Amino acid sequence: MKMKVVQCWDDGVTADIRLTEILRKYNAKASFNLNAGKHGVTPKPEWIFKGTKVERMEWDVMEDVYQGFTIANHSLTHPRLEQLTPEEALKDIVEGRDRLQQFFNQPILGFAYPFGSYNEMVMEALRKAGHVYSRTTKSCDKIYPPENVMEFHPNCHFLADDFFERYERAKKDGVFYFWGHSYEMVYDDMWRDFEELIARISSDNESQWSELPDLF
Ligand SMILES: [Zn+2]
Repeated sequence: MKMKVVQCWDDGVTADIRLTEILRKYNAKASFNLNAGKHGVTPKPEWIFKGTKVERMEWDVMEDVYQGFTIANHSLTHPRLEQLTPEEALKDIVEGRDRLQQFFNQPILGFAYPFGSYNEMVMEALRKAGHVYSRTTKSCDKIYPPENVMEFHPNCHFLADDFFERYERAKKDGVFYFWGHSYEMVYDDMWRDFEELIARISSDNESQWSELPDLF
């Protein structure tokens, strides 16, 4: 049995354009966790990361950029959901999911916690809203099958120093899951390293790229 490799990327930023070009080149599958309430008709400046401007992608290009990839929900407005009332949290989650479902015309099954933070109330809202899993930001070795699908831990972040050690260790469990934000690649050599990482996984006969919702 080949190990299933899954990856997901948060926040729907313009650097996803460069990222998806690399993924397509190596036939790599991926999920993108998006905040439907954060995109506008032009790229929207959001914050500065290590001296580089981070922008949300404009709606107009999103259909093309994410064509062929899986879309998942990251809430409507990226709040700290556990600080909202249960009604507010549910509304932000449901509306985010509905808008993505309509725009991309695909079932939205996955979720990633904004800021990686959650509690029992948030997990309950996600179940109610129809999600089948939700990703945390806690790196774990033994991730699959998760004890709780609303606490699906990744193996690691894509910039983890021990990325390929974790990748090799995961082969005995059959699933390897990594995540990140494309805006974290602020230098060209980081993009080059990332392309090498994707190429290495794609050429590994013991692995295959898989879709996250297919794990559940
Ligand atoms: Zn986020």
